Amino acid sequence: MTIDRRQFIGTTSALAAAATFGVHQSSAADPKTTVNFALVGLGSLATNQIAPALQKTKHAKLVGVVTGTPSKEKVWADKYGIAKQNIYNYENFDKLAENGDIDVVYIVLPNGMHKEFTVRGAQAGKHVLCEKPMANNSDDCRAMIDACNTADRKLAIGYRCHFEPHHQHCIELARSEKFGELKAIEAGFGFKIGDPNQWRLKGDLAGGGAMMDVGVYALQACRYLTGEEPAEITAQETKTDMKKFAEVDETITWAMKMPSGVMCYCSTSYAFNGINRFNAYGEKGSFGLDPAFGYGGIKGKSSAGPIEFENVDQFAAEMDAFAKCILEDRQSTVSGEEGLRDLLAVEAIYESIRTGQRTKVGSV
Ligand code: NAD
Repeated sequence: MTIDRRQFIGTTSALAAAATFGVHQSSAADPKTTVNFALVGLGSLATNQIAPALQKTKHAKLVGVVTGTPSKEKVWADKYGIAKQNIYNYENFDKLAENGDIDVVYIVLPNGMHKEFTVRGAQAGKHVLCEKPMANNSDDCRAMIDACNTADRKLAIGYRCHFEPHHQHCIELARSEKFGELKAIEAGFGFKIGDPNQWRLKGDLAGGGAMMDVGVYALQACRYLTGEEPAEITAQETKTDMKKFAEVDETITWAMKMPSGVMCYCSTSYAFNGINRFNAYGEKGSFGLDPAFGYGGIKGKSSAGPIEFENVDQFAAEMDAFAKCILEDRQSTVSGEEGLRDLLAVEAIYESIRTGQRTKVGSV
């Protein structure tokens, strides 16, 4: 198994005695309990989800921003009390190296910019939390991991579902074989994409289309439910709008065979709304979530009845978990290697579409 279940579930569990490490101003007499974050890229996700979530975190604090839009500087400074010396742009970003107030940079830029800002962030001595998908390709993922290792900084990917109770419960159900040995999983996530001029439809900035953006949630679900890496993949793409999707994929269906024999049937699309679920089938019953991958409103059921938990702020949980990893000097369960494994599977999916062949997945 690539993800240890107790480690995974433990991401939201109680703190062990915290030895501070790599966090500014730490001292044995006054152990830090908070890690200071700067958001890099102040677009929709940073504005509407991450900054509000940072008002709820216990161990992560918003103290800085990096933006290419000067008009946002005052707006964010006023709204969140960001000090002038903690506001950067993409050009002077490297000067973060001189700023001891900021511990973590959270990269919330278009996918194609993740590598550059993760590498520069690590070189500036900062831990890095990077949004999903980790990068445009596995080579870039490896460069990001190397840069963080070289700088002795931690790297985590924004896989928020790992910190969500319904998902965590489903992992328990799968790994404990509550409904018998798992035989099959179906998973899908997609939505109808709007503005034809947005970066998500540009190959260099997005790295791919629906697959890279939301298909990774279905891929992740199969990987964390089984705790296995896909051995072989077959995939097909359907394109109905050649102009809008000239540079990226529109709809992809794929099948993955896990080493244990579990079959995974997945789909993703930018062409229509509605698919947002996974179902897992064991020898003695099934369980699943629908909707599964939203920021809230997650609902589930199993052969034994409804799966009901309070919906949490997944971003707050994700950032607190990363902060605790830094405070306790632990590797994140959603590490760079975890992001790399997704990209290796995505590359096999694209390769299978290109060749029409069953494709083996590359190894870390
Ligand atoms: P967005 O378009 O709303 O924001 C992107 C930000 O990057 C903007 O502030 C923009 O000004 C800036 N930017 C800098 N250079 C740019 C360029 N060359 N082209 C376009 N924008 C540029 O995007 P978003 O929805 O906030 O997504 C940002 C990242 O977050 C992506 O990697 C995306 O996959 C990820 N994301 C994750 C989730 C999640 O649930 N974890 C949800 C949405 C987005």
